[in-house]
Amino acid sequence: MATRERHKISEIHIYKSDIKLKEPFKIAIMEIVSAQSIFIRVATDTGLYGMGEANPYWAITGETQAINLAGASDIAKLLLHKDPLDIEGRMREINAFLAHNSTLKSAFDMALYDLLGKISQLPLYALFGGSNNTFYTDNTIGIGDPEAAAKKALEFKKQGFRAIKVKLGTTIEQDVERIKRIRDAIGYEIPIRIDANQGWDYKTALTSLKALESMGIEFCEQPVAYWDYEGLRRLRENSPIGIMADESLFDHHDALRLAALGCCDYFNIKLSKSGGLHTALKINAIAEAAGLTCMVGCLTETRLALTAAAQLVSAKENIRYADLDGNLMLQEDPVIGGAEYDVGDIHLPDTPGHGADIAPEFLGRCECVTIK
Ligand code: MG
Repeated sequence: MATRERHKISEIHIYKSDIKLKEPFKIAIMEIVSAQSIFIRVATDTGLYGMGEANPYWAITGETQAINLAGASDIAKLLLHKDPLDIEGRMREINAFLAHNSTLKSAFDMALYDLLGKISQLPLYALFGGSNNTFYTDNTIGIGDPEAAAKKALEFKKQGFRAIKVKLGTTIEQDVERIKRIRDAIGYEIPIRIDANQGWDYKTALTSLKALESMGIEFCEQPVAYWDYEGLRRLRENSPIGIMADESLFDHHDALRLAALGCCDYFNIKLSKSGGLHTALKINAIAEAAGLTCMVGCLTETRLALTAAAQLVSAKENIRYADLDGNLMLQEDPVIGGAEYDVGDIHLPDTPGHGADIAPEFLGRCECVTIK
């Protein structure tokens, strides 16, 4: 009878990272100037390791880097000497131990799946049964002056991006002006996705979406507050533009409620909200059953977390859109291997696991805590 090698988690390193953005990034509910992240390295007694990343957005998930660092040590102690391939068991323990903190959980989940892929000798997209390892991402423009937004949109179009995402969520006049200026600059050949990041109330959202109807908008992310499921449902009924739930959607329980209540046409899945791939797969399954399609989005992670997210996009046909551009905003790319970007076109090599690692020189400059 065949037996398989058993692995145990022997050591976990937690790194504190801070990478400056090329320019400040402003959305309706917060502004950042650098990506304050943590990296997790989960090593086994068989000489392997998996890598994970968390880039917490405090106004969205309630996590900061300091919170993530503290929680990471506690979770690491919980995982020591256990089987990394029992992802079901490990995530159950993590979820039972610590409520919320989805971004931190996603870093551990990512490292465990990386190990699963390395042990199986398959890239995650293939392990999940998928085959489409090439797709494209949009590129995002933060909230700012309409003139500057139009200039940037034209730059993105000239570079070859096939879709542009624009952050809105201010006043009706300013938001409509932003999109109008962008369309004047780039024409109508490529789609614009908009994201209000909860910045509108129901009435403002409806008025804005109606005013934007003829401007070639692919869909609108999170027009109203995360808790306003009724507002989302009414907008879905009355808006001429499709509605995508983002901040209202963290895990599979949210997905089921949003689908059952008819709150949206699309889901924006982010590993940082779902707590990782384990729950992201459940969300996509619920979406598929409910007739909703998905996008996979990101925060300002490096190509490491974005590669893990790209594996998910490549694995599932029901994931039709990708917004995996956070790395493009960073001043530094410390990642070895991983997803290859040709402007907006993303290609995943067949490296086992998620396939990305952080350069040792970069990790050497980060404060590090070791749990063993
Ligand atoms: Mg969004």
